[in-house]
Amino acid sequence: MASRPDRPRWSIDQVLERTDLSALLDELAEPAGRTMGPGRKWHCPMPYHEDHRASVTMFRDRAGHERWRCWSGDHRGDAIDLVTASTGRDRTEAVDWLANRAGMHPDRPLPPPRPKASTAPPAAQVMDPLVARYVHACHRILHAAAGRPVREWLYRRGIEDATISANLVGADPGRTMMRRGRGLPFGTAVAATFPVYGPAGNLTYVQARYLDPDTAGRKYDNPAAALAPHPRLAFPVTTTGTSADMTLVCEGLPDALTAAQAGFRSVGLLGAQTPDEGVAARLANHADNTGTSLVLVCDPDAAGRRVADALVPLLHDCGHSVQVVTPPHGLDLNDWSIRDPGWPEQVRSASTRLQVEASASVGLPSQGIDL
Ligand SMILES: [Zn+2]
Repeated sequence: MASRPDRPRWSIDQVLERTDLSALLDELAEPAGRTMGPGRKWHCPMPYHEDHRASVTMFRDRAGHERWRCWSGDHRGDAIDLVTASTGRDRTEAVDWLANRAGMHPDRPLPPPRPKASTAPPAAQVMDPLVARYVHACHRILHAAAGRPVREWLYRRGIEDATISANLVGADPGRTMMRRGRGLPFGTAVAATFPVYGPAGNLTYVQARYLDPDTAGRKYDNPAAALAPHPRLAFPVTTTGTSADMTLVCEGLPDALTAAQAGFRSVGLLGAQTPDEGVAARLANHADNTGTSLVLVCDPDAAGRRVADALVPLLHDCGHSVQVVTPPHGLDLNDWSIRDPGWPEQVRSASTRLQVEASASVGLPSQGIDL
C-alpha cells in the first residue's frame, strides 16, 4: 500500500463533532432490543468478545463527548476506538474513514457539527425508492461513455455481461458528473455500483465500490440508514441453471457474483461487522429453503479467519454444518477464479473431502473454535 502524503490530518475533535456514535454503533456493532431513544444496547464490537447479552451502552463524558462501554468485558472508547476495534484500521485510518463518512473533504468547507441532542432521522425499515432510481441510473451509465472505466474494471475481474445485466451492476461517475439526493453514496470518485437483493430477488440496497480506494479515502460507500436498512447479506441473481447442491457464502459482493456466474448459489456477507446469530439464522434458513449445504469461502487473512471462527459455531447452533474453503496462494475468490478456471471443481472436491474428514472427527474444524 502506497503512503498517502496528500491526505489531510483532520483534528479528532472536528471528526467527533460530526459523528453520531449511536448511528456508528448501528453500522459497526449489532443493535439489540429497541432501535431508538435512550437505553439502547449493542453487542460488543470487540472481535474476540462473544457478547451474547448485548453489554454495550452509550454515555457522554464530562467533556460532552459520546463514548461507549462494554460492561461485561470492560471494553470502552469513543467513535475512533469503535472503528479501530471493528474494522482493524489503525487510528489514523480510522480518523480519515470517519471524516470521509461525515462528508469532510479537503477542498470543501467543513459540514456543520451535529447538534448535541441527536436529531438524526430514524433508520428506515424499507428501502427508499430513491435507492432504486440510483441503481437504474448507474446501470444505464455503465453502458455509456462515462461507464467505460467501470466496465473495464468489471471485465478485468471476470464479471460477465450476463451477470452485470441480471444484477443491474452499474457505474457511478462521481458527484461532479451525477448529482444525487442526500443519503445516497457520496460519489467522491468513480465507483462500480453493486445492487443488493434479498433471497426472493427483491432489490434491498446498493453498495458503491470505488475503483481507486486510495483516492476516494474508502473502499465502499453505502446509502444512509435513513434511506435503507443495511441488509448484511446479499443474494446475487444467478444467470446459469443452479443445479448446484451447495451455497457458497462469500466475503463481499464481487466474490459472491463470481460464485453465482460459475453456477453456484451464493450469498455475500456485507460490511465490516463480524457475523452474528441473526446472520447465521438467515443463512441456515436459506440453506433449508434451497436444499443446499453451506460452504464458506474465506479470504486467507485475519478478517477471513474471524468470519469463519464466528460463523461456524453459530451455524452449528442452528443445526447446520458448514465447510470452510480458503482459496490457495493467498488469493481471494475473485483473483482465484481469474487465475484458475478450474476453481469450481476444486471447491466441490475440497468440500467433499472436508465433509468426509468432518464426519470422521467432531464435525467442526478445531482451529480457534470454542465449543
Ligand atoms: Zn466487550
